[in-house]
Amino acid sequence: MIKVCKFGGTSMADAKAILQVKSIIEADKDRKYIVVSAPGKRDKNDIKITDTLYKCYEDVKETGSCSERFALIKERFKGIVEDLKLDLDIDAILDKTEKEIISECSADFTASRGEYLSAIVMANLLGATFVDAAELIRFDSKGRLNDEYTDDIVRNRLDDVEYAVIPGFYGCDYKGKIKTFSRGGSDITGSIIARGTKADLYENWTDVSGFLVCDPRIVKNPQVIKQLTYKELRELSYMGASVLHAEAIFPVMKRCIPINIKNTFKPEDAGTMIVPSEKYTDSDSIITGIAGKKDFTVIFMEKSLMNSEVGFIRKVLSVVEHYGVCVEHVPSGVDTLSIVIESEQLKDGVLTEIVNGIRENVNPDFIHVIENISLIATVGHGMARRSGTAAKIFKALADKGINIKMIDQGSSELNIIVGVQNSDYENCIRAIYEAFILE
Ligand code: ASP
Repeated sequence: MIKVCKFGGTSMADAKAILQVKSIIEADKDRKYIVVSAPGKRDKNDIKITDTLYKCYEDVKETGSCSERFALIKERFKGIVEDLKLDLDIDAILDKTEKEIISECSADFTASRGEYLSAIVMANLLGATFVDAAELIRFDSKGRLNDEYTDDIVRNRLDDVEYAVIPGFYGCDYKGKIKTFSRGGSDITGSIIARGTKADLYENWTDVSGFLVCDPRIVKNPQVIKQLTYKELRELSYMGASVLHAEAIFPVMKRCIPINIKNTFKPEDAGTMIVPSEKYTDSDSIITGIAGKKDFTVIFMEKSLMNSEVGFIRKVLSVVEHYGVCVEHVPSGVDTLSIVIESEQLKDGVLTEIVNGIRENVNPDFIHVIENISLIATVGHGMARRSGTAAKIFKALADKGINIKMIDQGSSELNIIVGVQNSDYENCIRAIYEAFILE
């Protein structure tokens, strides 16, 4: 059995947390490939190593040096190595790293050094092999992960390595230069290593005990989601649930490897298990999670016999496309059509131009703009098995006097999305949570 474990920034923040990580790894001999983040915040006023590194790069760009700021990085890593009593010449490693940061003068190279140093420390502590992510992960000329090629390299390189620590967050571009993923990208590295080593499980260790049914800032102590399918996860993370990087499921998806979200500081908690499909779940709940985002705009139009006008929707969407704007949802009725767009994309007169363009292109009988809309997705495979889920959501909202401005149900019956005024956002989430979870 092979388990790939990724430990996030809080788990790597100081010697105490790192020793806790060591005890977790050593408690299970199947935990063979370890991916680490850079040290994160030790408390809420602290600064993440990665943030300081980005600033080091700015310093180098402006002045050709970053010694003052890099001193913070040195202090942090030296403290960790000292507290862990490691036999490691960290001074020499840090001096070399500083020189490389100056000569490379690249934001990605500089930012990646947090993970690089973190993995060297962890490998030394565990007595495991350090394998640089630069050897394993490749991006193509468009900056996208070269996934099949990377998979081959990972498989071949780790084939005869029994126990390894790999830095998260970066790889190499097609010219051999260090390139990072977007922020939080060590989750993707863990997933790539799990795929390449054909792991049985990808454990993602963080500082929370899994995904919560909804945002704890809105509902106090919401339940933890025990099981989640890949598809449910996509829906929830797209709508704002942020425990795992949104792209982290793609590599493991190729090999149907489950992901277990676990809490380093409460390892006894079961966490959330993310499984390939419904087949793998034993959950009988109707809904799995509730997530949402604020600030959308709905452009609503009406035209008699719209349905019989060939190309109507295409013509409307081509206007939006012309402005390089992405459409979120397109709910429609017999003679009505709405397009839902993130308000952020409609600034600086773009909204007016799109509305005028639609008028010219399809000549609707009526067109109307509704702003300040929040979208709330209620997600769960369970709703396809039962009738009455939508009715229950609508009743819960009606009972609270919340006016629904838009409804959209995906054809896979995996989610029901409602649009409400921004001012009803929190109440809407609370009402749905109460109706399904606290019933
Ligand atoms: N250290 C990087 C960040 O802060 C990547 C990661 O932790 O996954 O975004």
